[in-house]
Amino acid sequence: MSGNAHDILVVGGGLAGTLVALSLLERGQRVALVDEYRAASASRVAAGLLTPIGGRRLTRVGPLERMLPTARRIYRKVERQRGRAFFREVDTLRLCRNEEEAGHYRRRRADPDYRPYLDTPIHGTEDRPEAYFIRGGGILDTEAFLEAAGAVIASRGVRQEARLEPGDVRVDREGVEWEGLRADRVVFCEGYRVRENPWFHWLPLTPVKGEMVGGHLQGEVPDQPVNRKVTLVPCGGEAFLLGSTFDRHHPDELPTEAGRRELLAHLPALLGGMPEATVTRHRAGIRPAPTDHRPMAGCHPEEPRVAVLNGLGARGALIGPYYAERLAAHLVAGEELPEEADIARFRERA
Ligand SMILES: Cc1cc2nc3c(=O)[nH]c(=O)nc-3n(C[C@H](O)[C@H](O)[C@H](O)COP(=O)(O)OP(=O)(O)OC[C@H]3O[C@@H](n4cnc5c(N)ncnc54)[C@H](O)[C@@H]3O)c2cc1C
Repeated sequence: MSGNAHDILVVGGGLAGTLVALSLLERGQRVALVDEYRAASASRVAAGLLTPIGGRRLTRVGPLERMLPTARRIYRKVERQRGRAFFREVDTLRLCRNEEEAGHYRRRRADPDYRPYLDTPIHGTEDRPEAYFIRGGGILDTEAFLEAAGAVIASRGVRQEARLEPGDVRVDREGVEWEGLRADRVVFCEGYRVRENPWFHWLPLTPVKGEMVGGHLQGEVPDQPVNRKVTLVPCGGEAFLLGSTFDRHHPDELPTEAGRRELLAHLPALLGGMPEATVTRHRAGIRPAPTDHRPMAGCHPEEPRVAVLNGLGARGALIGPYYAERLAAHLVAGEELPEEADIARFRERA
């Protein structure tokens, strides 16, 4: 053990930073986390869906067989630690939009890597599917999770609310230091704001704005998420969330009337009729979207005391726990990072 008060300083308390801090604590590390609270951070705006297969082309994300169990284990553990429920395992009902999507469904169903997650149609046929379940996912109430996990981190280490200027972190032979807080290493998990970080501004991320509305529906809210381009997420009783939009041209966190209209226009197709909807919540956030669609983890090529976890894109709730765990194993036990996430692939840009 070094003479520093902490083993690792984590910067950012969204899904990435919170999950890294939890994984480091599991490995017996002394952790300090510094986060500037923002109601509009992607992690707080997110619907929290874990969907193993998604997008227009029904693509699967990475090593699902390891990701899904890791996510379940970590979310359930924090639920037990705090005596609160915020994670629900549930399948998503996918409504097929057109012949192109039906073609993707047929191809994927023939692929053994996809088949366990794509069920037989409940409406239509295998050849012409109209509605089917995507199996194995869940819904995470991200705000409740961040609050509960933040309390766990505070009880076992330090959790401080502050903005940390990355350029103010000093790195020397013994470790890193920020405002009197000393640690052996620092891990930056700043979401899209990593672009202002002097060590990692070269990571190729695109900020992708997303809007989300929520409120109450009169009548029946389905029991499970329903997806048809956007997703209706049941939140208990008549409460729902509906999201989200994708906008690469306006990297701000301001909800817009156009975004609200775009989302609400999907409700009749999702519910099979025009429901009475009362909107009580409308938020926007910015996803840290990697240009090669793969997460980003690892140490700075010239400064091994400085590490990063970012690039969780549109799927932080699903892929975050696994890559946070892998980064912790790399930092603490020297284990290899999964190749698809290792920032060594961008070495020439640094
Ligand atoms: C509308 C919308 C819907 C989404 N829906 C889903 C979904 O259903 N399922 C899913 O899996 N994903 C979803 N996502 C994506 C998900 O939100 C992201 O993958 C994830 O939240 C990214 O987490 P992060 O911790 O990297 O970044 P962020 O959430 O941006 O967190 C970064 C944190 O670091 C803090 N920070 C930054 N810089 C500093 C600094 N210098 N000092 C101190 N603190 C700092 C920020 O204030 C923030 O708290 C959605 C995103 C949006 C916008």
